[in-house]
Amino acid sequence: VDWIRQPLLFRVKTRKVAVITGGASGIGEATAKEFIRNGAKVIIADVQDDLGHAVAAELGPDAAYTRCDVTDEAQIAATVDLAVARHGHLDILYNNAGITSSSVGPLASLDLADFDRVMAVNARAVLAGIKHAARVMAPRRAGSILCTASVAGLIGSEVPHAYSVSKAAAIGVVRSAAGELARHGVRLNAISPHGIATPLAMRGFGDVLAWADAERLKRVIEEDMNELEGAKLEAEDIARAAVYLASDEAKYITGHNLVVDGGFTVG
Ligand code: NAD
Repeated sequence: VDWIRQPLLFRVKTRKVAVITGGASGIGEATAKEFIRNGAKVIIADVQDDLGHAVAAELGPDAAYTRCDVTDEAQIAATVDLAVARHGHLDILYNNAGITSSSVGPLASLDLADFDRVMAVNARAVLAGIKHAARVMAPRRAGSILCTASVAGLIGSEVPHAYSVSKAAAIGVVRSAAGELARHGVRLNAISPHGIATPLAMRGFGDVLAWADAERLKRVIEEDMNELEGAKLEAEDIARAAVYLASDEAKYITGHNLVVDGGFTVG
């Protein structure tokens, strides 16, 4: 099989078991593929059932799909328990599910219900995921928990406030919880990508373009974003960062926010 020929960060006596939320699309889908290529078994957890089943079928017998709305703590708990029931343990939880905010525009028009909706998926669910993964990982003194934050959580920009704040909160959750988890042998890290052309990003940019200085923003998106010496940032780049952080190669790295942005936030 293919993965035997690849660099095997996950080649250990027991193959690693991973749950990836938002795994039916974009970064999560690319990560599911890369995890499997590296010898892991993956449960894709998402709310897009048709897509999730199709992705799992395409990835083969090491992948499975389960419905999990991450805004519902009980569904997160059940997904973690499913991984343990099916495979005996859980090594990796990647809290990757995310949504954009549709409340763009001047502060005066800010929709705070939208803020709550975005925070529930992008921040609260990360904390809930950590809570339930740690419940099964800490007794084994092993495990790696990841979340997809964003460069939007590090800098101000035209990105809607709710999105930026939710991603800053996700980074904050990692900083806040990593110390306690370290004492239980569990690692916790964030990954902060820059722009990648996924359905989420295209929806988000579309909303912002409709409001902001469209010409200027279009230039930013097309010329500055995704460009590092002509290289385009792709979901696979985030997947490889996730493989590294989830693997034993990163056994001393915790509480970190790995920025994958080709230098965007450093000017
Ligand atoms: P995507 O739209 O391809 O994938 C997001 C997935 O999350 C979808 O499959 C969606 O169904 C799922 N999801 C949404 N709400 C959910 C819920 N309540 N429960 C379970 N699953 C849910 O977009 P993507 O860009 O791959 O997004 C993945 C993560 O990366 C998000 O957290 C996003 O904020 C973050 N991110 C993306 C970019 C980018 O430019 N694409 C940049 C920085 C961070």
